[in-house]
Amino acid sequence: MAGKEKAESIPRLFGTNGIRGVVNSDQMDCQFALRLGLAIGTFMRGHVMLGTDARTSNEMLKAACASGIMATGCDVLDCGIVPTPTLQYAVKVNKAAGGVVITASHNPPEFNGIKCVYKDGTEMSRENEEAIERIYQHQEFSRADWARVGHIRPFTTAIDRYVGGILAKVDVPAIRRARLRVAADCSNGAGSLVVPRLLERLGVKYVTLNADPNGAFPGHNSEPTPDNSSELVELVKSGGFDLGFIQDGDADRTIFVDENGRYLYGDRSLAIVAKYLCSKKKGRRVVTTVGSSMAVEDAVKMSGGSITYTRVGSPVVAREMMENGGIFGGEENGGLIFADFQYCRDGAMAVAKMLEIVALKGKLSKVNDDIPQYFQFKRKTACPEGKKDRVMERLARTAKGKRTDRTDGMKIFLKGGWVLVRPSGTEPLFRVFSESKTSENAKKLADDYVKLVQKLING
Ligand code: MG
Repeated sequence: MAGKEKAESIPRLFGTNGIRGVVNSDQMDCQFALRLGLAIGTFMRGHVMLGTDARTSNEMLKAACASGIMATGCDVLDCGIVPTPTLQYAVKVNKAAGGVVITASHNPPEFNGIKCVYKDGTEMSRENEEAIERIYQHQEFSRADWARVGHIRPFTTAIDRYVGGILAKVDVPAIRRARLRVAADCSNGAGSLVVPRLLERLGVKYVTLNADPNGAFPGHNSEPTPDNSSELVELVKSGGFDLGFIQDGDADRTIFVDENGRYLYGDRSLAIVAKYLCSKKKGRRVVTTVGSSMAVEDAVKMSGGSITYTRVGSPVVAREMMENGGIFGGEENGGLIFADFQYCRDGAMAVAKMLEIVALKGKLSKVNDDIPQYFQFKRKTACPEGKKDRVMERLARTAKGKRTDRTDGMKIFLKGGWVLVRPSGTEPLFRVFSESKTSENAKKLADDYVKLVQKLING
């Protein structure tokens, strides 16, 4: 089927992180979840593990999606509220046919989403998503005979097994000996169910914020931005903590705050962990996207490792690590991937590893200051779909003679920094990122290139 219909254009359902929308508006309603469930069951053909984050619409979407899956003869194992990486780990270790997470990650409370997990626990490749989209659009559902429809069973051990898996991958005695004290903001998300258990098992004293799952997000929205972290920062500044951390709604991303209450952007934790892991053995490989800070490359090289850049998106990073090797990888948004645990972003594993680093290497502020500091600016500018290719061609002409990287859009290396100009895959706009050693220069680079892109659009 896949070959025959390859030339046909099927409307895209899955974005970069599953399918998202405003509940009972957009397409994100129970009819959609039911029909998508039918497509997912038809594709997966076996036990499907199903979990949700903490959103108010989860039960509705879960029940509809589960119905569709069961109608195709697949059994559903209901993991309840779990972080996305917990569900991914469950799919992997239980050898399920695949998984589904009902989550909109860091989006505002009115959103929800449906994300598919491949049978090895990784995020679905685009190819497999397209296969599901084709089944959905053509309604080629394999409905089971009446006697063979699937069943749904609660599956209650996913979190315990996940926490156990993490403990096996960190130096627990060292963390326990360090008698650490941390502040944890769970953003009223799925991480609320994992973080306390993990910290207790690690012998860490902790104070939690927003640690009850609540889809109204009464504490703050579930994206770990500096604004949403102000309560955490204040708590850490009140004294007596070795570090603080905050997770997004489905707890695949973690952002850290040092012992002085300084918010560390995601590329800092990426660089800190990369440096630490590379220092254990020469020649280790780290994978990140072209949008990541030079700090990561500096950190890797400081400890004798090598770095590989990929297109933007955590599934791309994970795939590169799986296929070509790499002990560690991630994105600049706090999504860290540990190859020896699982090939996906993992918020709780990031916490455990950072605690090990602080236990063994000392204060987080010092560990952070040991790695060069850079400044990034992120801008976007509107561009009609039809003009994107021409803008890229013209941009290439302006970059003649300069060092460039065409891995994703165009990264242009300039005096004192770089600029990344990238057409969005899903929206009519260009993204322009810049980085430099000084904030002024980084801002200037971003401003200059936004102006240049606008000129190329209109020229
Ligand atoms: Mg997330």
